[in-house]
Amino acid sequence: MQLLLDLHPDAYPLEGYRRKQLLEWIFVHGAGSFEAMTNLPAAVRAELSESYTLDPFKAIETFASTDGSVKYLFTLPDNRQMEAVYMPYLDRKTICVSTMVGCPAKCAFCATGALGFGRNLTAGEVVGQILAVARDQGMSPRELRNLVFMGMGEPLLNYDHTIGAARLLLHPQALGMSKRRVTLSTVGLPKGIRKLAQEDDLGIKLAISLHAPDEATRQQIIPTSYANTIADIMASAREYQAVTGRRVTFEYAMLKGVNDSVWQAEALADLLRGLVSHVNLIPMNPWEGSGFEESSEAQLQLFYDTLEDRGVEVSVRRSRGRDAGAACGQLALKHPEAVQATA
Ligand code: SF4
Repeated sequence: MQLLLDLHPDAYPLEGYRRKQLLEWIFVHGAGSFEAMTNLPAAVRAELSESYTLDPFKAIETFASTDGSVKYLFTLPDNRQMEAVYMPYLDRKTICVSTMVGCPAKCAFCATGALGFGRNLTAGEVVGQILAVARDQGMSPRELRNLVFMGMGEPLLNYDHTIGAARLLLHPQALGMSKRRVTLSTVGLPKGIRKLAQEDDLGIKLAISLHAPDEATRQQIIPTSYANTIADIMASAREYQAVTGRRVTFEYAMLKGVNDSVWQAEALADLLRGLVSHVNLIPMNPWEGSGFEESSEAQLQLFYDTLEDRGVEVSVRRSRGRDAGAACGQLALKHPEAVQATA
């Protein structure tokens, strides 16, 4: 059995208007089974069911936050687990999806990094998260207009499947999202950033988790970052901007006494000079055993002011879903052993 969502829409098994109907059932009406596709002949539905599956998940659990966010815990057919987060705002509905089970990047402040790496998700398993969330929220998948590849995993280390998923998001007959509303967040892998810049039909937004302007602090926060220098990351960001014309976002988790001093804000401003960029300062989201503390409000403000005084476009991104363990850096699974599980 093949997961239908792993195919590019142009390769879907039906032809002409039948294919259009199939795509509409999946991406407009959010059908979870072939049986539900009532305007397809019964024989066609039966044939599809014999060769393909539509739902990549064995089980789904939800955890609701008081701020309206919902964390989804998905169990895959091999019993591994991963998570996505739905975040409703007044003017938009955003979903944060995972690209891996666990993550090999091991960022020290991140609960997912502490789990280790399980496996890559396929493109269909990534897109399946969107369809499942929409179904649970009682909406068309097309109502989810904003997507961030910011859940579990480093998307550029699962390059082909992430790009396959991005193409499904943007395809006019699939989810039809605007490329301006899809953001890929990376820990900063210059080779992958340069490759992404060359995907000329994509042009999605890029967010780089910098977290420090100097190598020593950055390696303390992201122990796997020694292979990629800050200079090379910044050079690749400039190249991405030159090719795509996109503003580049830099994510900066504020960690008390580690990366939140004034000299680090000044050094960050120096790094960004000449680049059209935006900095998101993210108050650290606490989890047991992280070993880091959240910067004080006063220090956060000082860091913010230092950047702003130097002409840097900056905002503070307060994560949603803290109380449901759904905020940035908190995705950790209720059963950590599910990262390594096998069927
Ligand atoms: S912050 Fe992102 S890249 Fe870093 S360990 Fe967590 S999931 Fe992986």
